[in-house]
Amino acid sequence: MRQLPETDRDAIRLAQDPKFPRWLEQITATGGCSHPIHLSGSTTTLNGTTGEILHHYDTRNEPGERLLVRCRNRRATVCPACSRLHAGDTFHLVRAGLLGGKNIPAAVRHRPRLFVTLTAPSFGPVHRAGEVCRPRRDGGTCEHGRPLGCGAVHAPDVPIVGQPLCPECYDYTGHVLWHAHASKLWDRFVIDVRRRLASSAGLVQSRFAQHARLSFARVAEYQKRAAVHVHAVVRLDGPAGPDDEPPAWATADLLTHAVRASARRVHVHTPHTLAVGDLDLSWGDQVDARPLHADGDGPEDDAVAAYVAKYVTKGASETGAGLDHPVTTWADISTAPVRTHVRTLMRACWRLGGLVEYEPLRLRAWTHTLGYRGHILTKSRAYSTTYAALRAERAHHMGHDDIPVAVTERDWRYVGSGHTPGAALLAAGVAEDLATNRKIAREELGADGRGLSAGPA
Ligand SMILES: [Zn+2]
Ligand SMILES: [Zn+2]
Ligand SMILES: [Zn+2]
Repeated sequence: MRQLPETDRDAIRLAQDPKFPRWLEQITATGGCSHPIHLSGSTTTLNGTTGEILHHYDTRNEPGERLLVRCRNRRATVCPACSRLHAGDTFHLVRAGLLGGKNIPAAVRHRPRLFVTLTAPSFGPVHRAGEVCRPRRDGGTCEHGRPLGCGAVHAPDVPIVGQPLCPECYDYTGHVLWHAHASKLWDRFVIDVRRRLASSAGLVQSRFAQHARLSFARVAEYQKRAAVHVHAVVRLDGPAGPDDEPPAWATADLLTHAVRASARRVHVHTPHTLAVGDLDLSWGDQVDARPLHADGDGPEDDAVAAYVAKYVTKGASETGAGLDHPVTTWADISTAPVRTHVRTLMRACWRLGGLVEYEPLRLRAWTHTLGYRGHILTKSRAYSTTYAALRAERAHHMGHDDIPVAVTERDWRYVGSGHTPGAALLAAGVAEDLATNRKIAREELGADGRGLSAGPA
C-alpha cells in the first residue's frame, strides 16, 4: 500500500469501509459535489398532537457520523457538479418567464418580450479579434508614443484581444467607477422604460403600475476587455404580473422603442472627489433590443434561456476578468493569476477604494470583480419562479433534501467541508456520470442554445 499514490491509498481505504455503500449514496445525493459541506446532527418529526415520533434521522449512524450536502457554488471552476445544477435552475427560471411553467401561465409567451443587450461605453481602444484590428491608414502615435492603430488580425483567444492599445491612455478609473455604478444605471434604465411607456400610452407616470407591469431577468457578463455587459429578458404584463393580460397599447414595438430610448438617455453621476472630479456615466452605444417570437413556440425561447444560463456558471477566473475570491491586501493583486489589463483594473479599484467619497461603493471589497457589485443573475419579483422554489421542487421529486426541512425539531452543526483525495476522485466520477446523463437528456430536448448568436461583442 505504501508505494501507491495517496489518492489510490485513500480510495482503497474508503472502499474497505463497511459503510462504503451508504457513503457512495451520500456522494451521489450531492451530485458528486467537489466541495461538500459536512453536517452533524439530527432531525425529529413529531406528531403535533400526540407527540409520537414519526421519523428520526441522526448522523450518528452515517459514515464518519456526518451528512454531506452540496456546496451550491455557481462557478464551474469551483464545483462542476453544483454549477451544472445551478445552470439548470437558471435555465428553468429564465425559460418559465418566457414560455410559462413552474407556476407561470403559458400565456406569458404571447406578451411583449424582448432580449436586450446593454454594453459599457468605451474606456479607450482595445485590440479586437475577427476583423482587421483598429486599422489606421495615416498611422500616428498617442502622447505616450504608442501606435494609434494595430492592423493585425487576431484570433479570438489570443491574450492580446481585449487589451488596450495604450494602457496609459486607457481610462481605468472610468472603467472601475462604471462597474461600481452599473447596477444603479440598470435601475434607472428600468424606471425610465416605465416612464416612457406610461407617457407613450398617455398615462400619468405614477399610474403606470395600475395598468402594466415590467418584469425582467438579467445576467451580467464580462467581455474580453473585462467590462461587464448585460443581457436581459424584458416582459410586459398586466398590473398583476404574469397572470394578467397587458393593456392593448402594450406592444413589442412600443417596448422596443422605450428600451432603446431609455438605454441612450439614462445617466448616473459619481460622487465628486478632488482626485477624479465627477463622472457622468451612461451605457455604451451598442444597444440591442430584439423582440422574441410572439408565438413563442420556436426554439428561440429555449436558446435565450440556455444562453443566459451559460453565463451564470462562469467564474471570474474562467472569463479572465478578476478572481473568484476577494483580495485583502495590495500584495494579493500583484500575485493574482490575471492578465496585465485586469491587474491594472484591480489596482485602480483598490486605489479608488481608499477615497473617502467612494466608501459606499466598497471598491476594495469588490476589487476581485473589478468594482462590479451586482449579482450575476438578477430578476424582478414577478418575472418567474425563484431558485429556492426550484430547489424545493427538486428535493420533493427526489425524496431527499439538501438539508432536511419541514420538521419540528432539528439540530445541525457544521463539522467540516471538502473531500479526502480518494473521495474527490470518486465524487468527480459521480459528477461526470450525472453530467453525461444530463447532456444526453438535453440533446434529446434540443435545448442547447444553438442558433442564437451573441449580442454586440
Ligand atoms: Zn458543490
Ligand atoms: Zn490589435
Ligand atoms: Zn497613450
